[in-house]
Amino acid sequence: MADEPNDATPFLPERRSLKALREAAQCCRGCHLWRPATETVFGEGRRSSRVMLVGEQPGDREDRAGKPFVGPAGRELDRGLEAAGIERRDAYLTNVVKHFKFEERGKRRIHQTPKRFEIDACIPWLEAELDVVKPEALVLLGAVAAKALLGSSFKVTQHRGELLDSELAPIVSATIHPSAILRQRDDASRAAERETFAEDLRVVAAALKVAERQH
Ligand code: SF4
Repeated sequence: MADEPNDATPFLPERRSLKALREAAQCCRGCHLWRPATETVFGEGRRSSRVMLVGEQPGDREDRAGKPFVGPAGRELDRGLEAAGIERRDAYLTNVVKHFKFEERGKRRIHQTPKRFEIDACIPWLEAELDVVKPEALVLLGAVAAKALLGSSFKVTQHRGELLDSELAPIVSATIHPSAILRQRDDASRAAERETFAEDLRVVAAALKVAERQH
């Protein structure tokens, strides 16, 4: 992989609108991950979204649909947002890495965690999304997203649901990736994890309400 490019920057358009970024991202060859994947899964949501939620990378369903958070983890995210009272239309959903990284096992495509150099290659797209959307609240879903934006020493398990001091947005928080709910071994643990996830999102919803009152 030494001769592969490792930077999405040359593929970013001059005009910085979500439409222009989304279109340009379809042709990104900034790292090797585009090759086995179906297509670039760019972020989705309105420019005026108050909340940006950032996950790790598209999964199998997302890769086929070309949209973020449409698979089982997306349904968990929707449940969490609803429980926290955050409107889906107020949310911009995206990932740190825009192509699905997987390993083929028979007919199945098994998710593989992106490596640091792949995250570094792809992060210019996320930075551009942040720059255009300028969300009031940024929620990092899972360790990969949190470490990518807050530094490799950040521990989601220690700081989930906290309001963090960061220049990325007025309100910044991190929690688990909703796929972690699905990985719990029984119904009771899934229900508990689901509730804690909703609690973490409620912290963000409450901070947004406070910000609203101050304006
Ligand atoms: S993963 Fe990111 S940097 Fe790599 S090809 Fe896809 S969009 Fe480009």
